[in-house]
Amino acid sequence: MNITRRAFAGAAAAFAAAGHGMAEGTGAGAVSGTLFGMEKFATHDGPGIRTVAFLKGCPLRCVWCHSPESWSYRIEKYANGETVGWQTTAAEVVAEFLKDRDFYVESGGGVTISGGEPLAQAEFAVAILRLAKEAGLHTAIETSGFAPDKVIQAALPYVDLWLYDVKELDAAKYLQYMKRPIAATLANLRTVDAWCCAKAGKGPPSVTLRLPMIPGLNDDEAELAAIGRLADSLASVKGLDVEPYVPYGVDKAKRLGLEVYSAPRPPQEYGEALVRKLAALTRKPVRLG
Ligand code: SF4
Repeated sequence: MNITRRAFAGAAAAFAAAGHGMAEGTGAGAVSGTLFGMEKFATHDGPGIRTVAFLKGCPLRCVWCHSPESWSYRIEKYANGETVGWQTTAAEVVAEFLKDRDFYVESGGGVTISGGEPLAQAEFAVAILRLAKEAGLHTAIETSGFAPDKVIQAALPYVDLWLYDVKELDAAKYLQYMKRPIAATLANLRTVDAWCCAKAGKGPPSVTLRLPMIPGLNDDEAELAAIGRLADSLASVKGLDVEPYVPYGVDKAKRLGLEVYSAPRPPQEYGEALVRKLAALTRKPVRLG
């Protein structure tokens, strides 16, 4: 279930009424930022039932992007006048999260921040994660890993699960498809892995690699072998999610005067075949995401 800006009305008041004083005015709760969506009862972005907050803004330009409405940091409008994005605060976001706490507890779920690239709104993202963690919620972040080291360091204490995108491991192709160099993403993945390993036995932080697979672009044998080697070199990686291409971004891009790669959605067998191939190339569990 997706909710929009309207559903936020009164959230901060409800949060305060429930006794969560951090909603009031200062500190992390007051940090503001821009969302472009919130999904309730999500079952795809981390374990159990979750609420996912989608933060607007992304520094990458993946040619196959499925959410080009996230690219701009600004609140904008589709051609039909529909508004994309709204301003809110970290306290309001966590207030919305807490409405479904019982479902998280019963299902082993929690909350996830996604994007866009959530770490591009660094202060806002870290404030949400921190407040969620302080409220006792399981936290996950879905990220491309493209962020300054200091932003990764700031987020680390408040993330239980890193859903870390591995879009392409060949540096030249990464630049071609994502329009940014790969170096920071890989360095940050090592940083996250080292942190999670240091915490092993003391807490839950771990990494799941998420693999957007686009037929004919990033799914050749060399790429799959490189993914397998990477996964096995990172002790905190507990699994790999294969995520075959979906053309969801094409229409949204058109409505914003943008353009993304367009191809038919591959059949179910495409993803299943990739799972089998990857499972032979890594010791880690591989599943269809
Ligand atoms: S796929 Fe994700 S990381 Fe890539 S451009 Fe789109 S929102 Fe950004």
